[in-house]
Amino acid sequence: MRTLIQADYVVGLQDGAHRLLSPGCVVIENEAITHVGPTWNRPADQRIHLPGRLILPGLIDLHLHAGVLAFGRLYADQGRPELFGAGYLEYGAPAENAPAFGPEPAEAGALALAEALLSGSTTVVEFGGETGIAPRNLVAAAGLLGLRLYTAPGFRSARYRTTQDGRLAYEWDRRAGEAGLDEAVSFIEQHDLSAGGRIRGMLFPLQADTCDADLLRRVMDAADRLRVPVHLHAAQGVVEVHEMLRRTGLTPLRWLDELGILRPNTIVAHAIFHDAHPLVAVGSEDLGRLARSRATVAHCAVAMARRGIALRSFASYRRRGIRVALGTDTFPHDMLQEMRIAAYLGRVVDGSVNVAGPWEALTAATIDAADALGRPDLGRLAPGAKGDLVAIDLRSVHFGAVYDPVASLIACGTARDVEHVWVDGRMVVRDRRLLTIDPGPWREAAQTTAEAAWRDATRRDAAERGAEQISGLAPRRWQDSEEHLE
Ligand SMILES: [Zn+2]
Repeated sequence: MRTLIQADYVVGLQDGAHRLLSPGCVVIENEAITHVGPTWNRPADQRIHLPGRLILPGLIDLHLHAGVLAFGRLYADQGRPELFGAGYLEYGAPAENAPAFGPEPAEAGALALAEALLSGSTTVVEFGGETGIAPRNLVAAAGLLGLRLYTAPGFRSARYRTTQDGRLAYEWDRRAGEAGLDEAVSFIEQHDLSAGGRIRGMLFPLQADTCDADLLRRVMDAADRLRVPVHLHAAQGVVEVHEMLRRTGLTPLRWLDELGILRPNTIVAHAIFHDAHPLVAVGSEDLGRLARSRATVAHCAVAMARRGIALRSFASYRRRGIRVALGTDTFPHDMLQEMRIAAYLGRVVDGSVNVAGPWEALTAATIDAADALGRPDLGRLAPGAKGDLVAIDLRSVHFGAVYDPVASLIACGTARDVEHVWVDGRMVVRDRRLLTIDPGPWREAAQTTAEAAWRDATRRDAAERGAEQISGLAPRRWQDSEEHLE
């Protein structure tokens, strides 16, 4: 089966970089791309003509937490000052003896994957089922949706806790970390390369400050044996940096580098608080180490911006030779918004209009993420690459006149502009709808789960706050008064 897709704009790969074809075409045979160029004059079994559309390689969301994240949605806009804006510790460090994340229903995880796919992400890295969704349920959902998914159960040697007097504490259980690694290895042995190769494994030691050195050394041995990437959170909060400086005398990035954890197949989520960051200011070596290691930073600009935090900076990391790819983290899972905010904040931080351009943002969301996964067959439209494509409708009113379609996309595009999506040459989204399943019931299940979690908020919170107190919504609710009732 040979399919020819013709469009007014196609982003193809030439000399290792994205280039604009206008008009252009892509030929897919079975699951792979066999031709990208201005024209195709030979036979095709199926011809799809898409005027006014932009064809991009499928986007890669390199860091996503699937699930309702009910507590994240309460705490995201505020937090205690002693946590320096680290919202994840507000909900990720429950009161002592209180329940941790989840468990969340399978539907909540499936909903997040559906959202990502509808937004043009054809490959998603789900971070170890950390929100309490069992990775086997995510594998099932990705199979239903036709999405490309990297996942496996995450693990760690310690859990975050909040003590009664409000301090961050670590509840160590090294055996649980070892057992978690063993479980992840067998999960990967069982699922890697299933669903026609669309399901892949990855090792997720959850955070630099919750894993001990022995566990991380074992992780690297397992990664070599299984030939899978390693992905962990590090340098994501000031409190974490202080903790690691106290515990080891080193910043998290330096500690990981000296342990041999930063390698070309390692993905570091966030990596924001390096030693020269103004809120850390204890050295000037971390970014050089990161660049030399050839590890990848999974930058989640939107989730960080919600906490008032930005990478310092998107352009300067890349200029130093650090590979920076993008992820949507907690919510929403909209890679178009992610590219825009990464680029705009990159300019704000550098105080320059001449950095972090739209093509650079697109490269981070495609080629760089694929390289982090060791996948030259993803993130680009070229012969031999997988048939993972996205068609964006640029004819909507909000695009106005289009000169550079990638610049228009980054400036004006939203997830709703993603019209069609193909994975492995198979159409899985048509006319903005999933062809495989109706996600409506998944959203209803997610709402029910979240409402139950919010009702239960006081039990998890160290200060025994309820959902209204945590979210600050109470003072803003409509107040009935006698006057209005008359
Ligand atoms: Zn994360």
